[in-house]
Parts: sequence; C-alpha cells; structure tokens
Amino acid sequence: MTRRPARPEAARETASLLSEPARVAVLLPLPLGELYEYAVPEGMAPPAPGTICSVPLGKRFLPGVVWDRPEGLAEIAASRLKPLAAIYPVPPMAAPLRKLIDWVAAYTLSPPGAVLRMGLSVPDALEEPASLSRVRLSRLGGEGAMTAARKKVLAVLEEEADAMAPADLARAAGVSPSVVAGLVKTGWLEPLTLSADTGDAPDYHWREAEFSGDQQAAADHLGDQVRAGGFAVTLLDGVTGSGKTEVYFAAIAAALAAGKQALVLLPEIALSTQWLHRFRKRFGAEPLVWHSHLTPAARRKSWRRIALGQAPVVVGARSALFLPLQNLGLIVVDEEHEASFKQEDGVLYNARDMAVVRARLEQTPILLASATPSLETVANVEAGRFHCTALPERHGVAALPEIAAIDLRRSPPPRGAFLSIPLRDAITETLAKGEQAMLFLNRRGYAPLTLCRTCGFRFECPHCSAWLVEHRGRGRLLCHHCGHSQPVPHACPSCGTEDALVPCGPGVERVAEEAAALFPDARLAIMASDLLSSADAMKKLITEVQDRQIDLLVGTQMMAKGHHFPHLTLVGIVDADLGLAGGDLRAGERTFQVLHQVAGRAGRAEHPGRVLMQTLQPEHPVIAALLAGDRDRFLAAEMADRRAHGMPPFGRLAALILSAPSPELAEQSARRLARLAPTDPDVTILGPAPAPLSMLRGMYRWRFLIKTPREKLPQPLLRAWLARADLPKTVKLAVDIDPYSFL
Ligand code: ADP
Ligand code: ZN
Repeated sequence: MTRRPARPEAARETASLLSEPARVAVLLPLPLGELYEYAVPEGMAPPAPGTICSVPLGKRFLPGVVWDRPEGLAEIAASRLKPLAAIYPVPPMAAPLRKLIDWVAAYTLSPPGAVLRMGLSVPDALEEPASLSRVRLSRLGGEGAMTAARKKVLAVLEEEADAMAPADLARAAGVSPSVVAGLVKTGWLEPLTLSADTGDAPDYHWREAEFSGDQQAAADHLGDQVRAGGFAVTLLDGVTGSGKTEVYFAAIAAALAAGKQALVLLPEIALSTQWLHRFRKRFGAEPLVWHSHLTPAARRKSWRRIALGQAPVVVGARSALFLPLQNLGLIVVDEEHEASFKQEDGVLYNARDMAVVRARLEQTPILLASATPSLETVANVEAGRFHCTALPERHGVAALPEIAAIDLRRSPPPRGAFLSIPLRDAITETLAKGEQAMLFLNRRGYAPLTLCRTCGFRFECPHCSAWLVEHRGRGRLLCHHCGHSQPVPHACPSCGTEDALVPCGPGVERVAEEAAALFPDARLAIMASDLLSSADAMKKLITEVQDRQIDLLVGTQMMAKGHHFPHLTLVGIVDADLGLAGGDLRAGERTFQVLHQVAGRAGRAEHPGRVLMQTLQPEHPVIAALLAGDRDRFLAAEMADRRAHGMPPFGRLAALILSAPSPELAEQSARRLARLAPTDPDVTILGPAPAPLSMLRGMYRWRFLIKTPREKLPQPLLRAWLARADLPKTVKLAVDIDPYSFL
C-alpha cells in the first residue's frame, strides 16, 4: 500500500534514485575490518554520520552506525546494494565517540566493529521501551497485511498529522488497541518516546562540604578547569582518607552547574555502595550506575536514559567509557592506578588511558585520582603533560597509621599456622578495646595447592597449566583461570591412598579458620569475591562492618578498595611478600599500591590505626618504603629502574600471544612468526617463548614481547608484521598493547 499519493516531481526523483540511490557507509558491531555500504531508501533524507540504523546482513538484521565515509572506500555495485531497514529512535552517536571508537581500534589493533560493539552494548535499548507513550506514522512504511481496521488507524493519523497515544488512537479509529499494537509491530507506526521516568536529578548545591585549605585549593583548581572547559588532565594526588572523593564531587558540582554531564569511572563499581551513599548525601539523588552486573532491564533503561541525555552523572566500571554521553563536562577516573581498568579479553584496552583520549576528543577536563598513582601518570606529571593537585593530609583529626614489620624469620608462626605471635597479640589488644581488626591476604580459597602426602601427586587443572585451588566452603577444587571445578576426593587419584591429601599454603578461608579458632568470641567475616555472590551480599557485609556487628574481617584485595570503616584500627598483612614473587614489570609497583591501600583502611577516624606486615624480607625496597611511609622515595627508585631498562613509562611494550590447539602447532607457528619478525635497531623483540601460563582453556600459548622507545609507536610495525603472518585458522593471535599481564 502507498500511503501518500506520489506527486509528479516525487515520481521523477524516485526514478533517478532507483538508478543511483544515495549510499551510506555503516559500521556494524562485529569483529570485522570494513564498513558496509547500504542504499538510502526512497523518500528518506540521507542519514547523517552517527545515525543508528537497522540494516540487513545475510538473513538477519543488525543495528549499525552510519560512519564517516573514509577516502577511497570502494563502492559496491548498485544492484548489490541493499537498503537500510530503519532508523532507531535514539539520537545519533556523536562525533567524539565515533572518533574514540576508531582511535581505540587503531591503537589496540582491533577491528573497529569489535570496539563499536562496546558502544552498542545494549541493542535492545535502541528500541522504544514497551510502555510507549505515543505513536506516529513511520517514515519507511511497514510490512504485513493491510486490513480494514488497520487502514482506519492510518487514516486517523494522516488526518491528525501528529503523534497520538495508542489508546486515544484506537478510540478515534473505532478499533481495538490490539490493532494499533499490531501496526507498531509491523512497522507501519513508530513509537515516540519518552516516558518521563528519569528519577531525581542530582542537585549540585544539595550539601556542599566545608573544605580544609588544601581541599579548597584543589577543588578551586578543578572547578576552574571545568568552568573553562577544554582538554586538561589533572592528577588528584591525595593520601588515603584525605577527602579526594569530596574534592572531586566539587568538580562534578561545577560541571552540573555549567549544565554539563560528568562521567566517573571506578574499579569494581558493583561493590561501591559507600561511594553511592556519599554521592546521595552530597547531591540529594543517585547517579546513573553502569556495570556488568545490572539486570538486562536496568541496562536497557540506563543506556536509553544516557543516549537521550537524561543522565547528568554516570558512574561506572570501565565499560562506561563507551556510553553515549553527549554533553560531557568532566571525566573522573578514581583509583587510576588500578589494573582492573585494563580489559583482559576481547578488545585489550586500558580504560584509564582511553578515558584520557575521550577527554581530548570531547575537549573536556579529566581527573585521575589516587593515593598511589601509577608510574605512567607520575611520569606524565613530571613531563608537564598532566597537572597535579595534592592533598597531603588526612581529613579532620585522623592521622596516617603507623606501619611496622613482623620479621617472620625471627617470629615464625607456630607450625601449620599462618599468624605470628606478635600479630595475634595485636589482634587480642584491639578486640579488647572494642575496636575492629582486619587481616589481609590476597588469595581466594582455602589453599592454593593440594598434594598427596604419600605419592606427591598435585591437583592440576586439566585445561590450564595451573594448580587447582581448594575452596573448602564449597567442598571443591577450582581453577582460577578457566573456572574448572571438581569435588575434593577422599582418596588420591594417583596412588589411591585414603586421607593422604594435604592443603599447602594459605588462602583467606584458611586464615579465617585459624582466626576463628584463636578468637572464638570475635564476630568474624570473610570478604572475598567468590564468597559474596551479589552486590547485595557485599552491601550487607559492609553495613555490618560499619555498624560494628563484625569484629574481625578477613579478606582479599576486594577489601582494600575505598572502604571507610571508622572503628577499624588494626590491619594485619598476612603475607606482604606474596605479590613480589614472580617479578613481572609491575610486581613492585602493584605490591606497594595494594599494601598501601590496605594499610590506608586503618585509623580513618579519631582512633589511631596501626598496620603490621608479616614478611620474610623487611629490607626489600618495597617493604622498606612502606615501613618508612616514604612513597616518593619508592616512586623515585622504581622510576630510575624503569628508565635504566627503557621500560614503561620510558619505553613502550606490546605483547603477542599465540594460542593453538596443540603444543606442536603453537611452537611451529611461533617460530614461523619469529622468522618474519621485523628487524629494526630501535625495536627489541623478546621471545618467542612458551607463556608462563603455557596452557589456558586447552590452548597452548607462546609469547613475544616487543619493546620500543617511547617516541616510537609499535602499532605500524606490528600491523606490517602480522599482515605477513598467514597462520593456520586454528591458531589465535592476540595483540596486547601496554600489557599488564605477562602470564
Ligand atoms: P579519600 O578518597 O582520599 O580516601 P575520602 O574522600 O573517602 O578520602 O574522605 C575520608 C573521610 O573524610 C570520608 O568519610 C569523608 O566523608 C570525610 N571527609 C573528607 N573531607 C571532608 C570535608 N571537607 N568535610 C567533611 N567530611 C570530609
Ligand atoms: Zn583451568
């Protein structure tokens, strides 16, 4: 059916369009390199770049984004051109976000479509929500039979020339509401947004904080940047408990006051209940929260709100970087040093670094906050590329905790135990005063290795070159790399001896078991990601700690992050040396950061805190710097070391990880790739060598590490190299630019 009678000029236009239709280049959210071309259907104005549309691909329809047409894109024959199917009722993707997608793709050597997939992560949100408020005639027409009842509905809308509520429309046409719904389904009618369900808006002067001198200076500096607009990067360098959050809230308030939006990236957002609570106290409303644990319905609703410009403040984990905010006035990356900003599967990108890129493309200020900034950021401050504003003191009366070592060579724990006598005594004293204590061990489960006392058999993952970790609470052995899980048997699978299996080494569950036996009256809890199944369970536990219903907390790194427990005065670090073993590039830096963060949980209110670190090497530079509370000396020494070896941030690294279904194929492919390696005097190629994690999920892995000077980007060289590679289809090759994992 033709709804509008064709005028003569329109008919001529149509004829010429049929011979030479307008075309658009569309990027699809698939791991493909190229753009696809589509014809613009007759009667539709050519959609602008950024328009989100539905296009046919093979037998299905996919959402895609009209992309800027690159020079030299070969046109496909008009006869093979398919028309785009529909335009989604959402605003177009803005130019800075499109540029970010291209930029991330080029930097990480990923297909742009794979990056776009992160930007169109909720395809369902492109459709109108089911509870549509009004409908109008669709510009493209629909499919399906045209009944008399349907014609009446269309006639009413032609007459009204406006959108109508479905119920009113059905009444005016004298048909049942299901007829209108059917027309929406078949595409004759298109729903118009939007429900007014946008929640309360944050109010920037709801409850402004009274700042100390340093805090005020930092807040003014950041506020000025936000008001001035334009790209600038600032490190907010403040000791734990100095009020960094309060200070960047002031910067967010400045953005809101200027009518702009703010995006905050946090590690582990699902767990940041305290952060949300503080936000609500400061702004009188919740921000929009974005992370991977949201329900599909919540994701849909949130994505739409953001796309429609109804979210003044968005807080999220790294994936929030690709949300379609259109009017950014500030980006904040809290705990900028956190390795969890690096995505380790799919597109391997660092959300902190790419947030800086987005800020540049959006021409907006960005703030990186940390008590233990990364070496990369410190180097950028020293080189004058980033600004820095410092908060050297804790807020209010709180002082930084005293840190002391327990030398395990002199005070070893009793046989088979993990807590030394001095640490036990300190816990006893703390509990006696009615204060709280925390034991930190960065290892989940009960024991990292289980072996047979009789034959020496060790439980290994069948799919990975890794030991299975016993999780006693669940009665299972788990692989922390692939998730493989099996029950703990009674007898050794190798020699059959009963009751000969022994756990080796501690995990948090084992430390908690020891602590429970030593302090039977203390109310004890374990905080580890695998034991807290949901954000709600986490919330509940944090509230219990805050309300002093817990006396003794045992936990992993999850506990180190950002929590503020005013009555916690003792932190015991069970194994300070743990992270130093293995010695990858950032082992020292990371150990310093996590131990410093954990230590920062102690004594955050009026009661002074103390930290006891069990170690076998108190003289190690990392431990010594922690004991001396001398972060800057540590940074200087680490910086000098990296400079001497041309390592990041003074050089660049890229890793190539090759995985194949058999060890032979992995080795052959690696050697083949090595023969094709570029020879460039500025470039060092280490490897190929079997990866430390030489088998992962049944695939055999080899690695190369490519090192270039800071001035020389490795991407062009990698691109040329890999283009020559021509490896068998079963061999997978991952490129990891600026790697954080060396496994
Ligand atoms: P950081 O993020 O640097 O670790 P926080 O922002 O968490 O520090 O501040 C630590 C504690 O001090 C929090 O409970 C916070 O509410 C409080 N605080 C910091 N600055 C102020 C201020 N100016 N007024 C009131 N409370 C403050
Ligand atoms: Zn495994």
